[in-house]
Amino acid sequence: MGEHIIGLREGRRVQPLEQPAVIRVLLVEDDREDAILVRGMVALSEPDRFIVVHVDSLTEARHRASAEVFDVLLLDLSLPGLPGLAGLSAAQSAVPGVPIVAMAGPADESLAMMAMDMGAQDYLVKRPGNRLSSARIRRAMERNHDQAVAAVRDARDPVTGLTNRDAFRDALHLARSAADKGDAPFTLMLIDLDRFRAVNEVLGHAGGDQFLRAVAERLERNLPESDVLARLGGDEFAVLAFDTPALEDGANRAQGLLEVLSRPYHLDSHELFVTPSIGITLYPSDAENVDEVMKKAESALFAAKKRGRNNFQWHDPESEPPALERMKLESALRRALDRDEFLLYYQAQVDLASGAVTGTEALLRWDHPQLGLVSPGQFIWLAEETGLIVPIGEWVIETACKQARAWDRSGLPPLRMVVNLSARQFRQPRLVESITATLSRHKLPADRFAVEITEGALMDDTRHTRTALAELREAGVRISIDDFGIGYSSLGYLKRFPVDILKIDQSFVRDLATDPGDQAITRAILALGRGLGLDVVAEGVEQPSQLAFLRAEGCPGVQGYLLSRPKPARQFEAHMRRGVTLPC
Ligand code: C2E
Ligand code: MG
Ligand code: MG
Repeated sequence: MGEHIIGLREGRRVQPLEQPAVIRVLLVEDDREDAILVRGMVALSEPDRFIVVHVDSLTEARHRASAEVFDVLLLDLSLPGLPGLAGLSAAQSAVPGVPIVAMAGPADESLAMMAMDMGAQDYLVKRPGNRLSSARIRRAMERNHDQAVAAVRDARDPVTGLTNRDAFRDALHLARSAADKGDAPFTLMLIDLDRFRAVNEVLGHAGGDQFLRAVAERLERNLPESDVLARLGGDEFAVLAFDTPALEDGANRAQGLLEVLSRPYHLDSHELFVTPSIGITLYPSDAENVDEVMKKAESALFAAKKRGRNNFQWHDPESEPPALERMKLESALRRALDRDEFLLYYQAQVDLASGAVTGTEALLRWDHPQLGLVSPGQFIWLAEETGLIVPIGEWVIETACKQARAWDRSGLPPLRMVVNLSARQFRQPRLVESITATLSRHKLPADRFAVEITEGALMDDTRHTRTALAELREAGVRISIDDFGIGYSSLGYLKRFPVDILKIDQSFVRDLATDPGDQAITRAILALGRGLGLDVVAEGVEQPSQLAFLRAEGCPGVQGYLLSRPKPARQFEAHMRRGVTLPC
């Protein structure tokens, strides 16, 4: 790939300026007499301060400069074939990085001055009696140095030191033109983390910055040198990869990043988790220009988020432009509460020893007028991003409590109502009050109510989360850890947080009958539950063989399609009346 692009990744660090004792001048002048004149202007009064090398074309200049170092280039603006400013830009690429003093004859003084605007560091009118002192050349060198530093600074994101959005666009353009010339197709990946805002809220700005740096560092460590890595803003990062020509290579790289990024982050005494989403596109197969490749990557990213995060998606040519799609989804979601489009499905939680249904998990559904029934994986992320999860969550709690009492009145045995809470809801200052008020409004005893939170949400481990959980527990509400066991390292929080129930994640249950690894993890969680005096529920039980294993290992509770699919209230009630039977 073009050096320039790779340079972006490396940070194009500018060496500190060291002023040499003797200044090496490369004089580019095709006119012999002018060359003699200029030599005199430079060196007459300070002969031992300069070494002047004279060449008469830029081709020769390039040649000399590749073999030795020059401190300054004196450039004639009337080289044959390169009139005026064309000569300047040719010189800038022939001898890059070296400060240029543009020279013109007395008739062309204004041209020389214009050269300053075009990036020359000084100008000189070739006229007997004029002098170019060493002090003046040193100032040109300083100016050049400052400009180089500024250029690098302008290309950097100040927080992470990565390439910034503007410079990334430049890199994309360069990559595109290289690809169009026939070499190297490239892969663009957009990465979104769902955490920055939360971290900022919880740990403040300094914490947010620290978090971003940790992410940047991980990305840097896990990507090859040749990739261009940028922070586009917020918690959005981008990668431009040149060595992943096949779909499979891109997929591998994206998968690797997902794994690396979702490991816990340790900041101060906090342990943080992120669920990244990645959208990928290939140039030139997916797009015709830079804008398009960017848009398509955004649409792929959107698709990944919709899948429930922690996954990557390729651009799908069928999908709508992401901004539009997101806007539509967002405004539909905003209206959904008013239009009463949400409903709850209920799924039984069964005591494995007695076969009795002890509780029911309320699972949110959105009955979208055009799309039909939409499952939470498709919209909860957006509800979280927009904050809509707070009023939606209140609706869920309200509806679930009301339903529990309605079933009480209709003579069902008392069930524990279990509701899912997302991390975002935990950051609501009035969460506990709101829950306890709803419970008492419906006269539902607190011990008939439980909340499920994912491990990830707990891991934010803020004083606020801890206090909220402790208060809920104090009020008599049960706390259940959802999706327990998926890849998080520290179990210490089980001691710090008041927890009642562990839910073994479905991914361990899926192959429970055959996979020794899943069996070992399940046994370990059961042992952990016994040791800490916690209840354990295995979720996603679909097959008798899974149930048999869980029974043999003494798992207290189960939940899954095998026993009952999630159902609307009325069907759930009918199902309860018929009775849930456990296959032996
Ligand atoms: P979750 O809390 O882990 O819920 C379990 C998911 O597994 C549910 O998906 C359920 O329908 C599904 N499931 C149950 N039994 C089986 C089975 O035997 N096999 C398989 N393959 N799947 C089974 P659902 O309803 O699509 O919910 C997905 C996630 O959305 C939930 O995962 C939960 O994290 C979130 N969610 C659902 N309702 C709410 C809500 O009211 N508020 C919030 N914040 N999140 C919610
Ligand atoms: Mg749950
Ligand atoms: Mg779960």
